[in-house]
Amino acid sequence: MQYEHILIRYGELALKKRNRGDFEAQLVRNIKKSLQAHPNVQVERVYGRLYLALNGEPYEQVAEKLKKVFGIYSFSPTRFLKTFELETIQQAALEVLRDVEPVPRTFKVTVKRPNKQFPYRSQEMNHLVGSYILRNTENIKVDVHHPEVELVVEIRIEGVFISCRTIRGMGGLPTGSSGKAMLMLSGGIDSPVAGWMTMKRGVRIEGVHFHSYPFTSERAKQKVIDLARILSQYSGGMKLHIVPFTEIQTQIRQHCPEHYMITIMRRFMMRITERLAQKHGALAIATGESLGQVASQTMESMYTINSAIHTPVIRPLIAMDKEEIMAISRRIGTYETSILPYEDCCTIFVPKSPVTKPKPEQAEKFERALDVERLIEEAVNGVETIWIEFGDEKVEHQNFF
Ligand code: ATP
Ligand code: MG
Repeated sequence: MQYEHILIRYGELALKKRNRGDFEAQLVRNIKKSLQAHPNVQVERVYGRLYLALNGEPYEQVAEKLKKVFGIYSFSPTRFLKTFELETIQQAALEVLRDVEPVPRTFKVTVKRPNKQFPYRSQEMNHLVGSYILRNTENIKVDVHHPEVELVVEIRIEGVFISCRTIRGMGGLPTGSSGKAMLMLSGGIDSPVAGWMTMKRGVRIEGVHFHSYPFTSERAKQKVIDLARILSQYSGGMKLHIVPFTEIQTQIRQHCPEHYMITIMRRFMMRITERLAQKHGALAIATGESLGQVASQTMESMYTINSAIHTPVIRPLIAMDKEEIMAISRRIGTYETSILPYEDCCTIFVPKSPVTKPKPEQAEKFERALDVERLIEEAVNGVETIWIEFGDEKVEHQNFF
């Protein structure tokens, strides 16, 4: 059976506190963007929910895309009838029920009737539809308390909507409804998950990746581009800034004590990301740090790294275990790419015994051996910005300066 409509529900509780109009408008824009490969789909706002008219576009493909749009709580494939004729409604309800797999043994009809001109009251209509189904099927019973299928018949002014399946969406808030953050994106498992979780709360992200060519290969860079492309399926496209980091790492190695190398390197990453945030209008930085995971993620270490900047740092994974992080990364589709072997710029110069309790004063003292401002400026000037288009294999390169 061909569904003509999809009914989309979004969190009304979350909406009460927010600006409903902006939220809805952003959600509609994001849905349209995610469905750009299906130009015939029309989005219609009806109070408190959205209807998509498929206009011949394939339901399954559209549904797959909707599952990745933040802000959608659930959706239902829906039959839409322009007529209010009783028999047509009964027949359509039967067809919708027959479409359910596996074949249900129990069902219940719920009629909603916002259209008060419709001649039958909800209760009457429940009965008329339910008994019609019972007459025309075998081995199925009504169960009003725990039905396997609830057939919802909604009689509105525009017509009649019939649905019986609810697919869970990702929840969260529409991307773009909560401002922008820079995501420090490595090739690991954690930072893509951190980016996804930040986006889930409506934040638009731009990726920042530090690349140390030729110590790290083109392949390592490509891997990060691939991760950004997976994330872009949830965000409708994103920018990725690739920062040349070789000179900074070389300088640190030459002029700073080994046990402070990682700390100082991270402070540089933070400072450069902060500059990029200011330049691109982002008010926060998101990272994949999780407390206690590695030497650079102790409380002291985060304090010292963080003290190099003033921009708030969002750490969505801070309290999560590796197992939990991995589970999300599998669910969102980044895991397979993240576990590919690669050299990270941080794993290249691994000191034998990194300090686990670094101090800001110490880091500052060691950094005096470097021309910090010049190094930052050069790195920022050498940034290569890539726009990763949603759902597009082609990646447009653009040099920033
Ligand atoms: P991930 O799995 O995200 O690489 P990790 O467990 O390997 O994290 P670290 O290597 O300590 O942890 O990195 C901590 C965070 O610093 C990362 O989650 C990421 O946000 C950021 N980061 C690390 N390396 C880079 C890089 N080369 N470019 C951009 N950000 C990075
Ligand atoms: Mg890493």
